[in-house]
Amino acid sequence: MDSSFAPFDLVIRGGTIVTANGRFQGDIGVRGSTIARISDTLPSRPHGPREQMRGRREIDAQGRMITPGGVDPHVHLTCSDASDDDPGWVDDFESGSAAALAGGVTTMGNMSFVLPWETLTERLRRESEQADRQAIADVFLHPAVLSPHPAIIAELGPAAARGITSLKFFMSLPSFDSAGGQFQLAMRAAGAAGSITLIHCEDSATIACCTTVLRERHERSLRHFPQSRPVLAEVIATERAISMCEATGAPTYIVHLSSARALEACAAARARGLPVYVETRPLYLHLTSEQYDHDDGALYVAQPPLRQARDRDALWAGLANGTIDTIASDHAPWTRAMKMDPSLDLSRLRPGVADLETMLPMLFSEGVLGGRISAERFVAVSATNAARLFGLYPRKGTIAVGSDADLVMWETHHPRIIRGADMHSRAGHTVYEGRELGAWPHTTIRRGEIVFEAGRVVGKPGSGQVLVRGKTEAPTWDSPSAAPATASAIR
Ligand SMILES: [Zn+2]
Repeated sequence: MDSSFAPFDLVIRGGTIVTANGRFQGDIGVRGSTIARISDTLPSRPHGPREQMRGRREIDAQGRMITPGGVDPHVHLTCSDASDDDPGWVDDFESGSAAALAGGVTTMGNMSFVLPWETLTERLRRESEQADRQAIADVFLHPAVLSPHPAIIAELGPAAARGITSLKFFMSLPSFDSAGGQFQLAMRAAGAAGSITLIHCEDSATIACCTTVLRERHERSLRHFPQSRPVLAEVIATERAISMCEATGAPTYIVHLSSARALEACAAARARGLPVYVETRPLYLHLTSEQYDHDDGALYVAQPPLRQARDRDALWAGLANGTIDTIASDHAPWTRAMKMDPSLDLSRLRPGVADLETMLPMLFSEGVLGGRISAERFVAVSATNAARLFGLYPRKGTIAVGSDADLVMWETHHPRIIRGADMHSRAGHTVYEGRELGAWPHTTIRRGEIVFEAGRVVGKPGSGQVLVRGKTEAPTWDSPSAAPATASAIR
């Protein structure tokens, strides 16, 4: 298709190209928005007589790893029309994109809350229009359904046909238990349409019970937050989600799994052949619940709460052995003042943290450079698996001819200290303040365009695309023991 003599728009020369399946040294030639050619480079003859790709722009990547642009399937960005008294998360698609690209994420999956008076179509149209104007990273939208009435369920099939192949709901909300049957019907409809169902697994009844007991003891401050949402609340809900998966046959994706016990339940379900997929979140890999004992403990309020060291260690093992499929930031940005607001207590929370910019540099530094996971697993959990599960593969999530040229070139030679003030999120602070990173993105390329370099986001708002997705697809596993016995339930 391409003549070796015609120049490419961009050539990235001599980097170590990493995919979920392996790594090699090579050159990448980009034409327009896609990868047009990849060639092996033998280190022994980097300037040998063989044909060399020529580009209008060339980047020397010698000594650097190149990974696919991250696919972060779980972020919370504010759509401006959703205004009420509470300003909500402080990033929109523009500032969220800047944080993403500076952190090596080129595709973001946003949770789009369908308000009770809206149709799914209306909500997604509104958010798509805003993303079209603001986004620099590419975007896909998950409808998050609070009230799955029959008209919403009827929209799931047509939405899937238009490329919206996911659905999210929350077991943590009191409304879940009164509508369990409707949620199961929604899951069934989503599965039949080739979509995947994302579930927030914390049991609302257990949370209500624990919170009432704490209130009776006058322990309502955020210091008691972890006791209000114990591991058992997650285990009960995760086991229920697994049973709903079995009852409906629908591909089921557990968001931000936080505990060893919930992970064991998912691993057992997969061993029985159920299409259960697991996401974790950076907070649980890098922090433990002692944070709540400190004066700034409110900064770490997130749902589920931070857990124990043994949970953290189990999650790292799950990332390495394949029982965890994806990592997602669950980017839910608030300013420090909003998080430390003294009026907050167990009945009034601002859960979540800004993590889009720090997630992949932390995972690369602590995981790959720290020897906990291979660079190939890094690619699988940060890009490839999410692209498959959310119907974007092989356009996204890998480095291959014909794929979008979404690439991250890593800086691993100069350690850097994380400072909230340097971050692109409007949160303006980070829970990892002062930590040292051994790796961070040197250059980020989205669909062939350099969008982040020399510490600056240079992509333009409105250049991001809202992606039309295909059906959900099972990730492939490098560890056979961790693979579901059958993937046939994925339709
Ligand atoms: Zn979330």
